[in-house]
Order: sequence, then C-alpha cells, then structure tokens
Amino acid sequence: MHLKHKTTVAAAASLALIGLTVSPAVGTLNEPPPASKLPDLPTPAEYFGFEMGDEGRLASFADISDYFETIAAESPEVDYEVVDRTTDNNEYPILRLSSEENLGRLDSILAINERLSDPLAMAEEAEAVGVEPEAYARDLAAQTVPVYYIEASIHATEVGNTQALVDVVHRLATDNSEETSRILNNLVVLVVPSANPDGQQMVVDYFNQTAGTEYNRVYPDLYHRYVGHDNNRDWFMLTQKESRTRVNLEQKYRPVVQHYMHQAGTNSPRIWTPPYDEPLSPDVDPIAVASSNALGQFVQRDLVAEGLKGVKSDDAYGILWNADVAGYGTFQGTSIFLTEIASARDLAYPFTGDGVLEPVDKTIRSPLPYDSDTWTLKQIVQYATSAAFSGLNTVASDPQSWLMNNLYQINANSLTWEGGPYAYIVPADQRDPYAVYDMMRIFDQGDVEIEQASAAFSAGGQEFGAGSYILRTQQPLGRWVDQLLRIDEYPESARKCADCPLIMPYSETTDNIALFMGVDVTAVEDEFAAETRSVREIRQERIRMPRPPAAGGAYVLGAESYGLGRIIDALQDAGVDAYRATEAISAGGQDFAPGALLIPASEPRARQTLTRAVRETSLPVYATDTLPATGAIELAEKTRVGLVRGANNMPGGWLMWMMDQFGTNYEVVEAEDYADLAGQFDSIVLAPGISTDRLTTGLDTSKYPEEFAWAAGVPDAPQRLAEFAEQGGNVLALGSASQTAAAAMNLPVENITPQDRETFTIPGALLAQDYDTTQPAAWGMPASWPTWFNNDAAFRLTGEGTTVSSYPAEGNPLVSGYALGAEALNGATNIASFDVGDGKVTIAGGHITFRTWPRASWTVVTNAIYNGAGTTLTAEEVAARFGGSGS
Ligand SMILES: [Zn+2]
Repeated sequence: MHLKHKTTVAAAASLALIGLTVSPAVGTLNEPPPASKLPDLPTPAEYFGFEMGDEGRLASFADISDYFETIAAESPEVDYEVVDRTTDNNEYPILRLSSEENLGRLDSILAINERLSDPLAMAEEAEAVGVEPEAYARDLAAQTVPVYYIEASIHATEVGNTQALVDVVHRLATDNSEETSRILNNLVVLVVPSANPDGQQMVVDYFNQTAGTEYNRVYPDLYHRYVGHDNNRDWFMLTQKESRTRVNLEQKYRPVVQHYMHQAGTNSPRIWTPPYDEPLSPDVDPIAVASSNALGQFVQRDLVAEGLKGVKSDDAYGILWNADVAGYGTFQGTSIFLTEIASARDLAYPFTGDGVLEPVDKTIRSPLPYDSDTWTLKQIVQYATSAAFSGLNTVASDPQSWLMNNLYQINANSLTWEGGPYAYIVPADQRDPYAVYDMMRIFDQGDVEIEQASAAFSAGGQEFGAGSYILRTQQPLGRWVDQLLRIDEYPESARKCADCPLIMPYSETTDNIALFMGVDVTAVEDEFAAETRSVREIRQERIRMPRPPAAGGAYVLGAESYGLGRIIDALQDAGVDAYRATEAISAGGQDFAPGALLIPASEPRARQTLTRAVRETSLPVYATDTLPATGAIELAEKTRVGLVRGANNMPGGWLMWMMDQFGTNYEVVEAEDYADLAGQFDSIVLAPGISTDRLTTGLDTSKYPEEFAWAAGVPDAPQRLAEFAEQGGNVLALGSASQTAAAAMNLPVENITPQDRETFTIPGALLAQDYDTTQPAAWGMPASWPTWFNNDAAFRLTGEGTTVSSYPAEGNPLVSGYALGAEALNGATNIASFDVGDGKVTIAGGHITFRTWPRASWTVVTNAIYNGAGTTLTAEEVAARFGGSGS
C-alpha cells in the first residue's frame, strides 16, 4: 500500500517534469458522460431503493421482472417477453435488446440466421444463382447480426448474476456510448434473467422474508421443485420444463454464444473464464471450442485491463465431454461461454477468509492475482457486469466472423463429418416399445432428421424390419446423435503430461441414452440403401385393446417395459386389483416371462383404466379367457409409498419427478411420520444420499422456519425403519442409502468396493450387469443390461439374502465411460433382497435412479415398491381370486 502510493507520487512528479499537469480531481481527463437515452427512467438504485450488490440487499425476481417490463415499455431497444411457464407455473421471461432497426426486422434476422445454419438448403440456393456456397453465406451474413444469449442464475443461490443483469440491461437501455451503440447495432442480445425463475423466487424471497430474524438466510431445500442444483444436468434427457424452454430458445434464436453466468465457492478464483480444461468430446466442433476459449481470453484481457483482480482460466470446468453439461446448443453452432464468480457469504454478505483469497499467485493462468481476504456481493455484480460487457463487445466488434464460423461453418462441418458411423439404426420390434418412444422423443425435440424404414432392409450385414428408425450422422445434428448413442471411450489424452494422472471430467463419463433407457441400437459403419419416410413427429404407436376376456379370464401384460410402472400406477390409482405371475406363463397366444401383469376381467374399471394407460405407454395388452395356472403376487390396494428424501437432496428430487410423471401414490416421509410408519405407508423408499446421519440429525430446525420441520432429524429413525420392516413393511434403499438400510436392519452385506481412488475409480459409467429375472425385483429385466455406477457400493452377502443382480464374474465390466479397477467388482452383488421379520427389504448399491438417466432400471424400482408390498398367493388361491377354476 505504502509503496504503491510512493510510486504514484513519483509518476506524477515525472509527468510534471515534462511539462504536463496532473490534476488530482477525478474525471477531468475524461469526456463528460453522454446523456442517458432514457432520462426519465429510474436507475436501479432509484427503482429498488438500493444499488445492485449492496450488502444484505437482494432485489426479488418479481421486482426485477417489473423493472424490466418498465424499461421495455420506455425503450424502443428493449423487448420483454414471457416465453413460457415454469414447473411451478411461474412466468419465464426473456429480454431482447438491440437497435430499434434490428428489433423492427427481428423476424428477418432470425430467418437469415436459420438459413445460414442450414448448409444443405443454402447450397441449393447458391447453386440456383450460380454462386459458391461460402460466398453466398457471406452475402447472407452481411444482411444479419448474431444473437448473443446471456443467462443468469440457473443455480438459484448464485444470486449475484441476476442482480448484475439489472445493471447490464439498464446500461444497455440508457447508455449512449460508442461501445453500447456497437453492441446494440451489431447484436441481438437475448437476456434470460434467470434460467430457473422458480428457484430465484424461492431463494431470494426466502432471504428477504428472513431478514432481521435469527434464521439461517440461505434457503435449505431444493431450489427447483424436482431437481435443485442438478437443473443444468438435463441437457440431453430434457426431462424438466425449463430444459425444454432453453432448447426452444436455442432453436428459435440460434445464438453464436451462450454466456452462462454462474457462481462458485467462496474460495474459488474471483472469476473463472475459459479456456476450458480437458477432456474434449470427439463430437464437439473445433470451432465451437476455439471460439469459446478465444472469447474467454478476450474477456480476461478486458477484466485485467480494468484492474479487476483475481481472474483465472484453465485447470477447471472440463465441460465439453458430455451432453449433460455441454448441452444441445453446442451441437447446433453455439459457443458456450461460462463465467464462474466466487460467492459471498450467505448470498449477500462479505466473505472474509483466513488470508488472501484465490487466486493468490501470479501465473500464466492468473496474471493479476487477488490481494485481499474479503469478497463482496458488490464485487460479484461488478465482475459479472464487466464480463458481460466485455463478452458482448468482443462479439459485437467482429459479428461477421461469429456468424460465419458458428452458424455457417460448424453446421457445414456437420454435413461432411466422418468421425462416427454412417448411421445408427433403432430396430423395430424392441422388447420395450415405451423406452424406444421415450428415447426417440429426445431426438425429435432436438429437431434431428429421423427416418423410418417403410420396408425391411439390410445394413452392415444385418436385417432390419419395416418401422426401424434410421439416424444418419451426416446431418446438422448428427454429432449430437453420435454423442448420445456412441459407446463412450474416455480419452487417454486427457492429461497435462504423459505421466500425469488422467483428468476426470467435470461431470459423468457417459451419456449413452440407448443404454440408459434399454433400447437396442446398432451402429452401421458403411452406407446402405433403405426405403424410408421422413418422420415429422415421434408419436406413440396406437395399441388396440384386445376383446374383453370372458368372466374368470384376465388381461395380461408382459413385464419387459419400464413403462409397466406407469400402468401399475394407473391401476393402483383407479383401485383396480392386479397380480404379478410368479412363473412363466402362456396366455392369449403369447408366452410371458415371470412377472406378467394379470388383471381380472371381472374388475369393473379394468378395461377403461387399461385403455387409457396403454395409450400413454404403447405397451401391448393381451386377453385370456382361461387363467393359466400360476402363483402370483397380489398387489396391495392403493399401495402407500413413502419417500425419504431429505432437504436439498437431489436424488430424492429426481425420484419425485419420476413418480409424479408416472402417477405414483407417494408422500414425502416427514419427521413426525416416524412415530407410526406402518400406519401411513406400505412401502418406503430411501433416496440415494440418505445417510444414517441425515436420518438422525437432519436439518437443524431451530435455524429454519416451521415449513421445514418435516426435514428435522429423528434420532431413532433407523430403529423405526427396522421395526417397520419387521412388522411387515416393505423398504427399498437406493444408492448410498443401501448402506443406511444395511446398518439399520443389520443386513448380511459387506461393501466390497475399494476405497482407494488411485486404484479404483468409476466416476459415473455404465457397467455390465446380470439379472436373476426369476426374482420379483428383477422381473422384466433382460438377463443382462448395463447398470449405472458412480463410485457406489457393491456387496458380498455374508448371510441369508437373495442376489437379484450382480456384476459379471469375470472380465472388465465396463460398457461405456471410464472405469479404473472395475474388475474388483467381479461377481459382486448390486441389487439384493432380504426378508426382515415379516417384511421385505430391497437394496441397490448402485445409484440406479441417477437423474433418471438409467431409466431401464426403473423396472426394478416398480417391482420393489409393489411386489414387496403385495401378498404371495398359490396357484389355487389365484384361481379362486379370478373366480375361475384355473387350467
Ligand atoms: Zn452454478
């Protein structure tokens, strides 16, 4: 400090020596600030009563939206639009900022950008007028401007970025400077003030409501109804409404940059920008990568030049390996520009560390290190605003390059890309038609060109039936298709040096949706001929109901689809009795493996309920007038499912989503429920992440309002769960909760997973799995299908219990992704079931419901929930229930 002062004085003195006068008054060397374009518009400070970033103050999302609407009403350069509703039915607003002229011809700008991104159509147009395609593209690009998409606070606790966008929008709307004019003339700026408006309301409203109280100020539960912080891990499964909203925006606006404003931990670098870290997916276009990295460098330069300390790049955020974080837009021509700014304390209060905060050292990756032990919300807003303007200005200074590189060239590269097979074929007549529909719907939402064979054909030496889907890889989104269907082999090159350890990805190591969902897909390397029609929309197959079976007969459905869970849920909801055959049967001219669903013809609402449920799943229904002789499990009437999820536990949130989609009759288990679990539940599901500590300690409810009392710890919860099972209750414990259940109920299992990460690490991969399909928990599963493993548990049974699924006895079980030392799992049990007193307990060591990705395993969840709560009957008893004599 002292030294710096002296230097300044010396510099002033030397300037004086050469005849210049330096005035101490600030501003005299600058031009007077240009007048506001909207002199009557209140500034953020005037509107909200405080400046963005003031300590302890957060503008609510409702107020911010109102302010943005006010600005849009005043400014011809700002449009405000509610483009969608959210999961909780709130408004999802966006803003468009550009010159009045650009906004006046927005439709034409977007139409040209779409044409630029469609190299096939453009090549035809170019040929028609006798011009080279690239020259034609340049001509088109000269008539348009690129879209710069900037989005804040998808993670709702990362509040500073939404607050910063208030300043950014205000400045763009009012500032007359050359820089702002260039941005508005040369870009359409698409502002998403929050990619998770529900969460902004939960977190900021809670913060404001608890002001002046003793309560902890940070919202303690999931800040999205289902997925909380996992909401940016949904860019290929597209399960959540907000994910689909973003894909719609990407398709409509075709941004060249998507600037995602995030915050990281308090001890992270003050701001991180690209260049990114390894690994890089073979499917991501080099231009998308290089442009992101270059933009990061430009922004770093501007921040450093502005004197903002603590800027860092590289060595983090290897997000370009998987489609869960790299996202759909990456494959459409956008460059992801991620900024991660360190967070403050309790959202809006200064954080003070033990010493100078990161980055401390002057290095190539952080040329201007930080120099203080304190970090504030005001700084977050300042850094975010500067990074936004720098990013905007960088692209606005060279719009034609961004248009040509990102929209034209990346999409043109897709048409000639040779990195994958010629096509992926999804054969007709699969064991799980519902899974095929679920998977194909993703490609449909992504606007992939899908063909369907209208006649049988042969390709790659194999025969495929009419109705098979064909996804060719040389198409605009062909590399997205390859990303999602390729068997992932983790790149050995993802290292800093030859002997350095492999760099693990920022998220998981595989995103193969066919393996996740249980769909057979064939990669065909060489070109082939097939008679096809282009599929406009993936629709569910129309299933004809069979004629009603005679009295004493039954409707029969196979157990092979995870969609069967949806049908069982519907039957349960309607109060229709249903049975699962414990043996293989023949009925209605069809053979069924164990687990077939039998619904008595005599059930009054059976036909009506099945007709509706089958329409939603496309699963075939058969009818038999004579019930084949078989034992069965009679499902409990309206099985009451309790979900132990814990506060802010994302795996529990994903389970809620899946159960809501299927219509499962479930309630979240609350602290007070432990007093009488059996009185309220038939089946209890322990979500992954529910540890013994979480059960017993839970949320410290003295620090939170009454509404979170449900999440309080219950000191004897493990004992209560054990009693519930012993007295006839049914328990399913998933992922890490398997060990919670094992400890609570003294299950005879030993976790054999090696804990040394130097010799054993499997950070999210698909491993081979053998199922004993005669066991009720595995009914309907294939004898072998990959399962999800994310450094989870695997077991050796040390006493009485039944292995339902296990890792193969020999060989490397890795199927897709990265696994080190996976042979240690050979022969180990993953899913097992136990009799505990009068009840049943099923555990899965692996996180088989991970973000709903390995959806084929949902069959196990359905089985365990319903079969375990049902009653086992002999063939005679079954026959009596159906009112016939059996055969
Ligand atoms: Zn984040």
